[in-house]
Amino acid sequence: MKRLLIYMIIVIILFFLIPIIFTSRFEKIEQVIANKNYGEGIVDGSYDYGKYEKIKLLHSDTGKIESVNIDEYLYNVVSAEMPVDYEIEALKAQATVARTYTLYKIINSSKHKNADICDDSGCCQAWISKGERYKAWKTDKDKKWEKIKEAVDSTKGKIITYKGKVINAFFHSNSGGKTERPLYVWGGEGYPYLQSVETSGEDTYKQYSSEVSLKKDEFIEKMKKEYKDFKIDFNDKDCIKIISYTEGDRIKQIKIGNKTLSGVEVRKIFELRSANFSIDIGKNNIKFIVKGYGHGVGLSQTGSNTLAKQGKNYIEIIKHFYSGVDVQNASY
Ligand SMILES: [Zn+2]
Repeated sequence: MKRLLIYMIIVIILFFLIPIIFTSRFEKIEQVIANKNYGEGIVDGSYDYGKYEKIKLLHSDTGKIESVNIDEYLYNVVSAEMPVDYEIEALKAQATVARTYTLYKIINSSKHKNADICDDSGCCQAWISKGERYKAWKTDKDKKWEKIKEAVDSTKGKIITYKGKVINAFFHSNSGGKTERPLYVWGGEGYPYLQSVETSGEDTYKQYSSEVSLKKDEFIEKMKKEYKDFKIDFNDKDCIKIISYTEGDRIKQIKIGNKTLSGVEVRKIFELRSANFSIDIGKNNIKFIVKGYGHGVGLSQTGSNTLAKQGKNYIEIIKHFYSGVDVQNASY
């Protein structure tokens, strides 16, 4: 009888305990996935934009780390990333994107050991000192700087979120007409707000079209640098053949001689402006005809200016390039 009572107590305890153990475990797993994909929540009070104030900026040429006010840092970023003669709403979109990008880096652990972000556009985000920027501008320097400040100040504290979490706000120069899903650039899923979207008017910018022409032996040399066993017979009409395209109209797979490559790999080998290209095989030369500039993921800067010219405000521009997002205040 006593034994039965003990069994019953154990069963009752387990009945209550098991769901608790499993629920908290699953919650933890879900939390990890959520953090990995979208960044931790910062609109729920866990990130205080107003109190944070300073970020640690690494100057890549000197290795010096500077503690700088986030909005002042953004003046230097916006003036480095976007031409000042772009529409104010495009500059405001850029400021909001740059702020979001910076906060995402801080929250999701920076690439740098003792700094939040660096000033190298190839690594983190472009940055130019006010002095250097003034040197590059020929006229109306103060007026231009005021316009940059207005873009940052009028969007102070505004960040882009997806389901309440700060997004990884990728951006690029020119989409070539259609943006790209990150899956085709870096692999991996997990960014539902980064879809392929179309923007008209991208072709009116100088960043839209470019060409790279190489002599056939130069072409072979560059391929052999990457693949020692590379072979190609230019007499074969299918020696270079595009196999498939991505949703963003870029090259997904291409056969070059005895190799099958992704468009992103070809872009890297031949230093093309984008993976949206066609190839012309001439008598002596191979010519890449390229559309767009950059990886093509997220906001297009020239596309933003086009939308601003059509009367769209910065929130509408952001919502065009990032699917299902909100623009809201980081908590103060
Ligand atoms: Zn960096």
